[in-house]
Amino acid sequence: MHHPKYSLFYDNHTMKAVPDVGANFDVDAFTDRIKRCGVDYLIFHARCNQGLAYYDTKIGTKHPSLAYDLFGKLSEACDKKGIALAAYFNAGISSEEGLRHRDWTTLYFDGRSLREPRLTPHVRTMCYNSGYRDHLMAMVKEVAGNYRIAGVMIDCLINYPCVCPVCVKEMKESGMDWTDLNVVTRFSKASAVRLAKDIATEVKKIAPDMLISNNYPSYEELLDTNSYFDVVCLPASEGNYDFLPVMAHYVRTLSDMPVLNMTGRFYEWGDFGGLLPEEAIKSELLYGLANGMRPNIGGHFHPRGDLEVAVLDRIEKIYKEIQTNEEWYDNAKAVTEIAVVYPKSIHNIKGSEVLRAAVRMLSELKQQFDVVTLASDWSKYEVLIFPDSILFTEDIIKRVKTHLDEGKAVISTGISGLNKEQTAFALEREWGVKYMGQNEYDPAYFVVGDRLNQGLPEMPLSLYSSGIELHALEGTRVEANLVKPYQNRGWDGTYAIVYTPPREITSKPALTINGKVAHFSHEIFSGYFEKASVELRRIFSNVLHAFFSETMVKCENLPIFARVFVTGQPNRRMVHLFSYVPETRGKTPMIEEGVEIHHVTIMIRNDNKTFSKVYLAPEKRNLPFERIQGYTKTIVDRSKGYSLIVFE
Ligand SMILES: [Zn+2]
Repeated sequence: MHHPKYSLFYDNHTMKAVPDVGANFDVDAFTDRIKRCGVDYLIFHARCNQGLAYYDTKIGTKHPSLAYDLFGKLSEACDKKGIALAAYFNAGISSEEGLRHRDWTTLYFDGRSLREPRLTPHVRTMCYNSGYRDHLMAMVKEVAGNYRIAGVMIDCLINYPCVCPVCVKEMKESGMDWTDLNVVTRFSKASAVRLAKDIATEVKKIAPDMLISNNYPSYEELLDTNSYFDVVCLPASEGNYDFLPVMAHYVRTLSDMPVLNMTGRFYEWGDFGGLLPEEAIKSELLYGLANGMRPNIGGHFHPRGDLEVAVLDRIEKIYKEIQTNEEWYDNAKAVTEIAVVYPKSIHNIKGSEVLRAAVRMLSELKQQFDVVTLASDWSKYEVLIFPDSILFTEDIIKRVKTHLDEGKAVISTGISGLNKEQTAFALEREWGVKYMGQNEYDPAYFVVGDRLNQGLPEMPLSLYSSGIELHALEGTRVEANLVKPYQNRGWDGTYAIVYTPPREITSKPALTINGKVAHFSHEIFSGYFEKASVELRRIFSNVLHAFFSETMVKCENLPIFARVFVTGQPNRRMVHLFSYVPETRGKTPMIEEGVEIHHVTIMIRNDNKTFSKVYLAPEKRNLPFERIQGYTKTIVDRSKGYSLIVFE
């Protein structure tokens, strides 16, 4: 089975009216050029979301203006040149086939088969339980059987709700409420998972070594189906620069299978005229590599087959530079010690502001952490963080008890830690607090006691979030108190109450610590997402360090915007130092250059290792180092954008 290292992905959704598909395509020039970029894995369309094929099909519809077998020629050339090729199929969208077989498309509650807004590829989507299912499987098998390919990628397995007669019949038979949108959406997701698994089974019968990749509907349900996961993120459009960090810290915890990090050469999908600055593309790929992901660059194939020299020049420059560090990226795994526990759906993980804030806060604090759900093992972590809204199920309670029994720490915030009914803390004795209901202060302020107030201004500080009331049980320390405002914000019939200064410190806890459990009454991660309050990050950091002062990495003279990630290979640890700052320009965040930083001190915990050499990759320039109290310390004189420091 091929292990993708440097991948390229081409979108090639070509409107039926394009009259000259493939007319200029020089397959040898194209494959020679991508080979020169160091690309070992190419994902290319066998059939696009317009429902048109780029190979000689007996089952589907070939693009009407394509005069030859484009995919076939490509597979021959890739095979000759040692480039592994994966065939792309769009499952959720297939416009031409949906038009010819209207009973293959999804049907909505209002009886329409077209979706709004009209001007997206998702205007006509496909039902995974209709005749389309067999048709798609037959096409995938046709390509897998007739061409030399290394893999199959199935895209857009999205849970489009469908109440067509076939789906309604199955839902009725399963006792599902086919009138409830949530139920229908869940059914659609299950149908997508079933289709993904069935396609994989059929493909593996033809070639057991075939790589299988599905985009959507989930990662956790496809753990035994996919050969690798691909995280698709274009920060300049849909996801912004907080999306990839969440996914990078999460997906890698699910298994040992490779994770690809697909960014794009453009600003958004469908953007044929966009070419992102070199540093924008490179910084994304480096972020992935620093977190154990392999790079993948998305682009558009020009339907005529024009060789896009400017794009390939940029890709070549980026890939060649990154490849000089390959010996330190190869099979390197992230080394982590803290977990943000977020046992929610993939939809929630992808979109959660709370999770983005927690990931941002820990990254700014240079902590080495993962994002985990119930699908991962939590036993290796020193600290578990439950951000804002994690109610405790039986499984969570069991895991947390084991964690605390081992003398390790927990930090929870807001309603996290409450039982499912939200009536009491699930582990009241361990938390050392009683749940007393919602806190009504709006706005709520807090003051911190002497033990944990380092670096905080001595004044009531805003929490920028809602919270609960706590009663500290005997033996529990109240480390911060809530401060009541004069009035709550609101309209009282006469006045708009908008000026609501703090009035008095109350006895109500804002932060309690009992043994190794800290609890914040308010949703400080929501507050951090809302206002980026440096004080909220500071109090969180003070609590974290009170529990866990010997963190894996310690830095001095390193700006907050910089990031530090640690990966490991046998006998060495790699410290990835980032200094890129996305700037919001109008509607779009952008990175155009790295920021130069100087005289950065980095200390890495030895963990029973004796590092005998510290150097900068790839030139292997030795850095002076010393050993201090369980750490190895070095100084990086100058770094711009990215540096890779190796402790060997
Ligand atoms: Zn259906």
